Amino acid sequence: MARSQYAVIGLGRFGSSLAKELIQLGNEVLGIDKDEEMVDELSDELTHVVVADSTEEEVIRSLGIRNFDCVIVAIGNDIQASILTAILLKDIGVKKVVAKALSELHGKVLEKIGVDRVIFPERDMGIRVAHQLVSPNLLDFIELSDEYTIAELAVPRRLSGMTLSELDPRHKYGCTVVAINKADGVIIAPTAGDKLEEKDVMVIIGTNEQIESLEREVIG
Ligand code: ATP
Repeated sequence: MARSQYAVIGLGRFGSSLAKELIQLGNEVLGIDKDEEMVDELSDELTHVVVADSTEEEVIRSLGIRNFDCVIVAIGNDIQASILTAILLKDIGVKKVVAKALSELHGKVLEKIGVDRVIFPERDMGIRVAHQLVSPNLLDFIELSDEYTIAELAVPRRLSGMTLSELDPRHKYGCTVVAINKADGVIIAPTAGDKLEEKDVMVIIGTNEQIESLEREVIG
C-alpha cells in the first residue's frame, strides 16, 4: 500500500486508536488536539503532533493541511467544533475529509457540508457485535454498500466434508463463496468440487439477506 499523509483531529479514544493504526499500516500521521495532555501522550507514536484548536482557520491553514491525502475529524461530543472543523477543511480544499458522527442528525449535517465519508463508530460497532452475538460463526464482515456484504463464516462440524456443490450457496441462497481459508492455505475462487472442513473459513459475497440466510444454514 502506498504511504499516505493523514491528519487526525481530536485524539480521544477513537482518534488516537485510528491514528496509531494508520502509523502501523505504514503511513504518516499528524495528530491535532486542543488538549495538551492528549497530544503529549501520542508525541512519540505519531509522525507529528500539534496542540491546536481546529476551529481556528489561521491555525489550520498554517499547518498546511490542504496538502494531506485525507483528514479525519474525530471530535464527537462537541458537535459544533466537529461541524466547524469539517466546513473549514472542505473550504480550504482538503481532498478527502472523513468525520465521525455520534448521532444520525450529526451525520446528516456532516454529509450536507460535503464531508466525503461519515463514520458512526458506535452504531457500526453495535451492529457488528449484534451480528456476532446472533451468529457466533460469523467472524467478520465488511459492508460494501447498503445492499452488499462480504462475510467470513467459520465452517461448523456439521458441514465438514461437504463439497461446495453440495452446499450449493449460489442456487440456494444467491451468494458466492469467493475463497476458502484452510489451515494449509487459501483457495481463491473455489470450484464445485472443493471440500469444506471444520474450522475452514469461507469468505462469502452477497446481499445482506442472502448472507443472513446462509448464516442460518451454517448455524444449523
Ligand atoms: P472518544 O469517544 O473518541 O474518546 P468523544 O466522542 O468523546 O471521543 P470528544 O471527547 O468530544 O469526543 O473529542 C475527542 C477529542 O477531540 C478530545 O481529546 C478533544 O480535546 C478534542 N477536541 C475537541 N474539540 C476540539 C477542537 N476544536 N480542536 C481540536 N481538538 C478538539
